[in-house]
Amino acid sequence: MNSLWDEKEAGRCASELELRAWTSRLLGSEKALVMYGGGNTSVKLREDGEDILYIKGSGSDLARVTKENFAPLRLEAVKSLIGLDALDNAQMAAEFRAALKNPDSPRPSIEAILHAILPFKWVEHTHADAVLAVADTRHGEQHLKAAYGDSVLIVPYRHSGFELAKACHDIFTHAATPSTIGMVLMHHGVFAFGGTARESYGRMIALVSRAEDYLKSRHAWDIPLRFPAAQPLPPERGMGLEAIAALRRDISLAAGFPVVTTVSSDLLSLAFSRRPDLASLSRRGPATPQHAVFTKRLPMLGCDVAGFVKGYREYLAENAPADATRLPDPAPRIVLDPEWGLIAAGVNAFYADAAAEIYRHSMKIQARAEALEQYVSLPPSEVLAAEIEYGGFERAVRSKDTLAGQVVLVGSALANRGKVQALLDQGAAVAGLDAGPAVASLHLRPGYLGLVCDTSDHEQIKAALDRAVRRFGGIDLLISASATLSAACRPLLELSPAIMLVKGKRP
Ligand SMILES: [Zn+2]
Repeated sequence: MNSLWDEKEAGRCASELELRAWTSRLLGSEKALVMYGGGNTSVKLREDGEDILYIKGSGSDLARVTKENFAPLRLEAVKSLIGLDALDNAQMAAEFRAALKNPDSPRPSIEAILHAILPFKWVEHTHADAVLAVADTRHGEQHLKAAYGDSVLIVPYRHSGFELAKACHDIFTHAATPSTIGMVLMHHGVFAFGGTARESYGRMIALVSRAEDYLKSRHAWDIPLRFPAAQPLPPERGMGLEAIAALRRDISLAAGFPVVTTVSSDLLSLAFSRRPDLASLSRRGPATPQHAVFTKRLPMLGCDVAGFVKGYREYLAENAPADATRLPDPAPRIVLDPEWGLIAAGVNAFYADAAAEIYRHSMKIQARAEALEQYVSLPPSEVLAAEIEYGGFERAVRSKDTLAGQVVLVGSALANRGKVQALLDQGAAVAGLDAGPAVASLHLRPGYLGLVCDTSDHEQIKAALDRAVRRFGGIDLLISASATLSAACRPLLELSPAIMLVKGKRP
C-alpha cells in the first residue's frame, strides 16, 4: 500500500488538529483500510494547561472528516476510566459527555478509552483488508508473528468499547517494548501510533504493506479471476429481469419493507460465486463482525429466500441475548449466484451499494485467508452482537424517507424533472427515461439512474429496463404516458413488493 503523505499538503495544515483531519482523510480515501464509518483516529493536544484527546466523532466517515468532526475529551478523565472493573455503553457515553470540553461537539467514538490509554500523541485505527486476511486464519497469531515480529501486539477478539480497551490496556502494559509500533485486534483491525502525524500514519501504511507482502510471499495475494462455466439453471428459474424482480420481491417480503437490490456481475463477484468451495468458504461468517451490520452474517447462495429466512431465525433463536428488544429482520442482504454474481439488498440504493462494496472486500479477505491457510471467522453469537448493536440505521432511514426502498420509473424525465426531484427527496430510487442525453446526468446520487431511451422503441425500452432492474431490482411504480413502455413494464409491476406490502398480499 502506497503512502499518500505529501509534505506540501501537510505544511498547508494550519493546526495539528487540521493535520489530524488531513491524515485521517488519507486513510479514509483507501477503501481497503476503512469503509462506511469504520475506523477512527485521534491526537492528544495541550490546551489551556490541560491535555485534550481529540477523537473522531462516532459515525463520521474518515474519508470526509474535518476538524469539526473531532470530539475534545479531557484526557485524564477518560484515561482514569480504565481502572473500573466494568462499564456498559450507556455509562460510558455519560462519562464521555461529562469529559467533553465542548458540550456541542460530536459524540466521541466508542474507542475513546483505548485511544486515551495509548501513550502516543497520534493514534490510527483501521480495519485493513490485508491484516484481516492474515489474522482470519486457523493459525492467525502465528502468521501475524511471522509477518510482524515484535513490532505489533496481538489482542484477541473483544467487543468494541470498554471490554476491548481493557484487553488492549492489559496487553500493552505487560508486553509493549520500544519496538512496538501497533496492535492487531483479531477479527477486527489494526492500530498504529507514533510521536508525529507522519510517523503514525506511516506506521499504519507500513503495517498494512507488511501484511500484503506476507500474503504475496505465500502466494496468497493474487485472486484467480478465472472461473468455471456456471452449471445449467433449474428450468423453473428464469434468467431474465422477472427473475431478478421476483428475488427482490421475496427479499422485501421477508424484510417486511421494500428493498433496493443491485446486481454486480464483475469478474471478482462471478469468480467468487462460482468457487467450487463456495458453500464451505462463504458460510463460515464475516471477515469482521462490523461487516455483518451491512451484509448479515452469511450470504444467501442461490435464490431460496424461504430457506435463508428459516436459517436466520434459527441463528437468532440460538444466539440472541434474552434481553434483546429489537432483532434484525430475517431477510438476506447479500446473494451469491453463479449466473448473476453478487446481488446486494439495502433499505435504499446507497445501502445496497454499501453492502455490495463491503462484501466485495470480504470476498478478497476470505479468498486470501483461504489461500494462505484456512479462513476462519468468529462464533455466530459474537457476530449477532454486532448486528444488534450497530444495526438500526435502516429503521432510521425508513422513518425519515417515506418512499425508501421503492423504485419508480419515470418517462419523459426531463419534462418531469420536478416529479423526479420530489420522488428522490422522499427516498425513492428513480430510473429516469428520456430521449434527451441530459437525462443521464440529471442527478448524481446512488438513488438515480438516468437512461437515454426513446420510449416508442421496443429495443431501447428493453435495454433501459435491463439496466434499471439490474441497478434497482424491479419497478413499483411507473409514471409515463407511453403505451409501449406501460406494456413492457406490466410483468415487472406485477412483481412489485411495495404494492404487495401495502395490500398485505403474498405471492
Ligand atoms: Zn474498529
